Amino acid sequence: MDTQTHGSEVITGRSLGESCGIVALAESIPVGYRLVQSLRIIQHRGQESSGISINTGKVLKNYKGMGLVNEVFSGVKIEKDTGIGIGHIRYSTAGSSTLENAQPLYANIGKFEIAIGHNGEIVNALQLKRSLESKGYSFATNSDTEVVMKLLSIELSKTSDPVLSMKNTFKKLVGAYSLNLMINQRVFVARDPNGIRPLVVGTTEFGYGAASESVVFDQLNGKMIRDVRPGEIVEIKKNEFDSFMYNESSKTAHCMFEYVYFARPDSVVDGRSVFETRMELGRILARESPVKGADCVVAVPDSARTHAQGYAEESGIPLTEGLIKNRYVDRTFIMPEQAGRESELDIKLNPIRQLIEGKKVVLVDDSIIRGNTTRKIVKMLKKYGAKEVHLRIACPPVRFPCYLGIDMKTKDQFIAANRSLKEINAKLGADSLRYISLEGLIEATSLGKENLCLGCLNDKYPVRIGSH
Ligand code: SF4
Repeated sequence: MDTQTHGSEVITGRSLGESCGIVALAESIPVGYRLVQSLRIIQHRGQESSGISINTGKVLKNYKGMGLVNEVFSGVKIEKDTGIGIGHIRYSTAGSSTLENAQPLYANIGKFEIAIGHNGEIVNALQLKRSLESKGYSFATNSDTEVVMKLLSIELSKTSDPVLSMKNTFKKLVGAYSLNLMINQRVFVARDPNGIRPLVVGTTEFGYGAASESVVFDQLNGKMIRDVRPGEIVEIKKNEFDSFMYNESSKTAHCMFEYVYFARPDSVVDGRSVFETRMELGRILARESPVKGADCVVAVPDSARTHAQGYAEESGIPLTEGLIKNRYVDRTFIMPEQAGRESELDIKLNPIRQLIEGKKVVLVDDSIIRGNTTRKIVKMLKKYGAKEVHLRIACPPVRFPCYLGIDMKTKDQFIAANRSLKEINAKLGADSLRYISLEGLIEATSLGKENLCLGCLNDKYPVRIGSH
């Protein structure tokens, strides 16, 4: 372990790879280990790096490293803190996968120590960075979060008022951001004016907190209170929280992919149960695209289990545990290198021959991005004797990049970009392929088209994407 910055320790570990997750706690007991536990609860949101910042009473102490929370924190002695802190797990969407970009980021600007964690992506980060560089400011990383840190530091030096400084900073940002921040002894969270990435506040057994997903409060013996509003800053205190709006004219645009794939099914995101949404996606898919005479419905585990359950329930076709997942091999969609993806997949899934052989199978997946996983699974099922494999996908074709915090950057990645349904299926090798309709997806979320981001489906983003 060596020292990275003042009050900051670097922990080495193994690197793996998704999006990002944040937590913030203010409790009547030290929170260091509780932050680590909270990050483990939302580990599915990011596997590249993990970190926490706590306040020891003298300094902000930052612990972070590359890898899963367990890998980074196993056996690490965390100093006693004053009961406030923030935590972050990361998968890089802006900035490369290096320890310097691991969060929370830390800065000491004399009167203030600041730590920041970020889930999302600042679309105008480069523009802001160039403008700051032209005024003589320099940057240590290529992360968009450092741009937020720099802007906030400049504002704090001018105003010495954390809330005013945050308001002034956030007004300059364009993009998706759910942030957690520690400024000396105070802990804040904030959400962009479109509420693109999720963020909730709640109680814990020993105080108050905020997290990317409500499941954190279930498991810390507390209760989710509400979503952080788009354009809102919330100060988390040990026995209450305070709200400061910095943008009242916001237009909600929650990421549809949180419901389809990212969030845990036991979370409630923006007032809507992820489990219930996925069940509904499955039910609608079954109504829109039935498979006559099918013997069984099989889910691509684990992410499509609930969608498949909904499909089976609506169609009356039995749900079968036809594919077994090796639970010690991590999710493949977000592995940074193509080579890694292929080899992980080979050992990740295996069909149960007795359940598949001679059967007409409805294979339900939550979404298709590159199609590598799907193609291999179809091939696998056929090899194990499936008579027919009919693919049913609970998300419309992903054809456009995400610039707002999900690692889907180039169009070339998408099997559905510039291909017809027939051409896509020719690559996947199924007997038939159907996607849920855009209307079906919107109906399943119950949020209304006007309250969702659907950019990667229809190329209409809630913010101006600029030069991309
Ligand atoms: S573009 Fe797609 S993945 Fe990105 S925020 Fe919008 S809905 Fe989510």
